[in-house]
Amino acid sequence: MSEKQLIILAHGGAGSDNAHSDGTDRACQLGLELLQARTPVLEAACRVVEILEDDPRFNAGTGSRKRTDGTVRMDAACMDSHRRFGAVSALQHIKNPIHVARHVADSENRLLTGEDALQYALELGFEKVDMTGGNSIAPSTDTVGAVVFDGTKFAAALSTGGTGGSRPGRVGDVPLIGCGLYAGEHGAVCCTGHGESITLNLTAYRTYAMLEQGIAPQEALDIALSWFEDSQDIGLLIVNPNGHAGGSNRSMAWSTLTGAL
Ligand code: ASP
Repeated sequence: MSEKQLIILAHGGAGSDNAHSDGTDRACQLGLELLQARTPVLEAACRVVEILEDDPRFNAGTGSRKRTDGTVRMDAACMDSHRRFGAVSALQHIKNPIHVARHVADSENRLLTGEDALQYALELGFEKVDMTGGNSIAPSTDTVGAVVFDGTKFAAALSTGGTGGSRPGRVGDVPLIGCGLYAGEHGAVCCTGHGESITLNLTAYRTYAMLEQGIAPQEALDIALSWFEDSQDIGLLIVNPNGHAGGSNRSMAWSTLTGAL
């Protein structure tokens, strides 16, 4: 039987410190181990993101920044090439929102929000925790994300505390299909940066469409970055069966790891 190529890319958000790529390295390492243990690709992508949500240096999960009212509200989403998609937005009090999004992907719904998303998580047995301890309110973007290829199928996963210091009802690109992330039979894409611009550009879907047309990941990345003004931070991770690419117009902690099965 021929070998399957495994690829994992993970990032700590557009604007995150490159020096924190030890965190994204660790996340990729776990992702590779999971794929080698034949963990389903969507679960592997979500477990990679879980590691980054638990790293307080990144604005997601434990490190989520506060809104102007002092609350922490988190968005997360995941998608695989079998068109499974699930998302949560404005979720409070849950340590790992990405796993709630994964449950949504397996339900009849696609996006759950606010108090009702929290209620859903509690019904599933997730623990209610105080996420507000010490998190800064200073304006900051950052999202954590991953794209994964298990040799056959693709997945993308994203999680964010949003933009620190933003108003409570604000939701960015992360839980919006085709904006923050997209996965299909031709590859997977995830985005980070200025959520409103990412959304207006339908960034993940239009980048995926380039893969579908046969454009290589690095060229697709360069084209997608050119859709943004210098004042709008943007970063992407892209994988297809022939390669991968990642980059940002800001500093960005990100890593890639390949292996075989
Ligand atoms: N895109 C995220 C948001 O707007 C933030 C980020 O990735 O930096 O919610």
